[in-house]
Order: sequence, then structure tokens, then C-alpha cells
Amino acid sequence: MFSKHSATPASAEAPLSPYRRPFSTVYVEQAAISYPRTQRILSNLPEHEMILCRDYREIFNRTRQNPVLQKNTQALILAVSDRARVYEGAPVCQDFGNDRFYYSSDVMNCVFDCEYCYLQGMYPSGNIVVFVNLEDTFAELDSILRGEGDSAPENPAYVCISYDTDLLALEPKLGYVADWINYAENHPGLTLELRTKSASIHALRELSVSDRVILAITLSPDPVIRAMEHRTPTLSARLKFAAEAIKLGWKVRLCFDPMIAVHDAAAVYNAMFDEVTAALPMDRIHDASVGLFRISREYLKEMRRNRPCAVTCYPYELSDGVYRYPAAVGDPLTKLAVDRLSEVMPRERIFLWDDATQHED
Ligand code: SF4
Repeated sequence: MFSKHSATPASAEAPLSPYRRPFSTVYVEQAAISYPRTQRILSNLPEHEMILCRDYREIFNRTRQNPVLQKNTQALILAVSDRARVYEGAPVCQDFGNDRFYYSSDVMNCVFDCEYCYLQGMYPSGNIVVFVNLEDTFAELDSILRGEGDSAPENPAYVCISYDTDLLALEPKLGYVADWINYAENHPGLTLELRTKSASIHALRELSVSDRVILAITLSPDPVIRAMEHRTPTLSARLKFAAEAIKLGWKVRLCFDPMIAVHDAAAVYNAMFDEVTAALPMDRIHDASVGLFRISREYLKEMRRNRPCAVTCYPYELSDGVYRYPAAVGDPLTKLAVDRLSEVMPRERIFLWDDATQHED
């Protein structure tokens, strides 16, 4: 079924550590091999073993995988999607006041390893799939943006491009953020949201600043980062990144989402807001979003099976198929965030996510 070759001569291969380096194995669909984007990505992975396959689902959708263990040595899977990967946002997704709200999902899975991440409930694998036919997504967006008649202005559209992944964390390997910015530059109707926990100032400086892009930076208190956002940068690193982004001219959104009801949560989150407001020029923040952890019943069932831990095994309340904190636990946390942010920014620039089930990058 597979043909196989190594990009590195056998004699030059380093001895295997308990876990191989991420992306030391790259599966490539036969249909994807001729795409220039495939070749570009492979050239960014100088030492990898490449395995050709017929269909990415043979690897990604196998039964009896352990997505949590696979995160220790993630494989990359390059594939061609049989459809454009742009979707209308569900009514439960936060749209920041945008009527025409979409998301794209050209990459499935994430290099980070957050214990509360819904992707663990959604995908059967911890490996990362990258669809290399981004042009099909762009073509679909062309038709979404196209106004009535040749000379009509474009319809507006707001598109979250870092859904189901953290695209900026993958930028040195994929270059997809740069591709999106290039596309957006020729489409005045388009606003992109790039959500990230990455703090790579180097990757940011490689990109052209675009006023069509909202850089949405997720911030969490250090005790939450240490306990459950594995492999993500510290709060101070994320704040340095945010300060640099503002200096470079990016529109920066701060995302306090998901907030987690950890032990002594009020003190933990107050300390975080002290640090955030001391580190950043809050009058130059585009807007902020606040949301408590919430998760669909189906996803939590899988997550409890794959990763029983404090956040997955919490006794949430279930309503309308969504698990949430009881109001007595969650409401004070939301109020704390809104109160602290209202001290430093107008209330209308603070968006609340109190009835959504989807992305919490
Ligand atoms: S929550 Fe976001 S950053 Fe964390 S693993 Fe999931 S997609 Fe990645």
C-alpha cells in the first residue's frame, strides 16, 4: 500500500530517542506530491522520512490511535482536499459583530497540547493533516466575496483562518499565514482573524503587516499554562509578542478564552490581568474576547476516554448538548474579566463568549 523513501541517508540518521522529533515522518498523498506547496513544505523539513500513501484517511482515521501519545512525536500528513475548506460559522460561534462569518480548516490539529482542547474529542489522531490545495479555498472565497455585477464592490466576509490548529506556530514549516495575507491584500472585502498562542517574534517579523488581519492572541495565567497548555509559551513571552505586534502595527485582539475554574481562580486571574495591563498599551488593543471553558457532550466523552484529567473530569452542567461550569462557578469569573478589562478599554470592545461551543485556541 505504501512506498517509502528517506530524505536522509541511513548512515546519517541520528539514533532514535524515545520520541522521534515532530514531523520526522511525513506522509504524502500521491495526489499531493506534485503540488508546489508540498515541495515547499518538504524543503522546510530537511531531515524527514517521507512515506507515500493513497489517501490521508488511511493514516489519520485509523482506529485505536492514541492522540495524546501521538502528540509526543507528531507526524505530518500532506493531502489534497476534495472540497474547498471554507465553512459558514455556526450560530454558536462568536462572530464579533460580523454578519458574514466563515472559518477555514486547511490544517487539522495543532503542535500545542492543551488538556482542554476540543480537537482531542473531534479527531481520532494527534497527527497533523495539511491540505496543500489552498487555492481551492481561495477560489471558494472569491465567489463568496464577489459582488453583484462586474464593477460592484466585494461583499464583506470575516474569516477565521486559524481554526482547528495554530497556524502561526506552524508558519516556519508551512508558510500558510503569508499565503493568506497575500490573498487578503487583493480582497478589500476580507477581514481575517489569525488566532494564536505562539509567541514567535521572529515568525511575526517575517510577515507583512496587514490591516486586513486581526492578530488574536490567547492569554492565560501562568498556573493554567503550566498545568494544562503544554508546549505553549509563558504569559510573559506572549505579552512580549503582543507588545511587539502592536509596535509593528498589527491589529491585536486579546483572547481570554477559555477561562478555567482552577483552584483560587479569582486570585490567579487577577494576577494575570495585573500583568497584562502593566505590559501592554491597552488603549492600542483592537478588542478583547472573554469566554469560559465549554465543550460539546460528544467531544467531552472522547476527551474523558483519551485524557482523564482535572479539566476533562470536572462535574460540568449539561444543557442543550453543551457542558459548562455551573453559574455559581462561571459567572464570577466572567464578571472578574469584564470588570478588569472595562477599567482599561471601552465596554463595547469587550466581546463575551457565553453561548458558544467551538474554538478556544
Ligand atoms: S487549544 Fe488551541 S493552542 Fe491548544 S492545542 Fe487546541 S488548537 Fe492548539
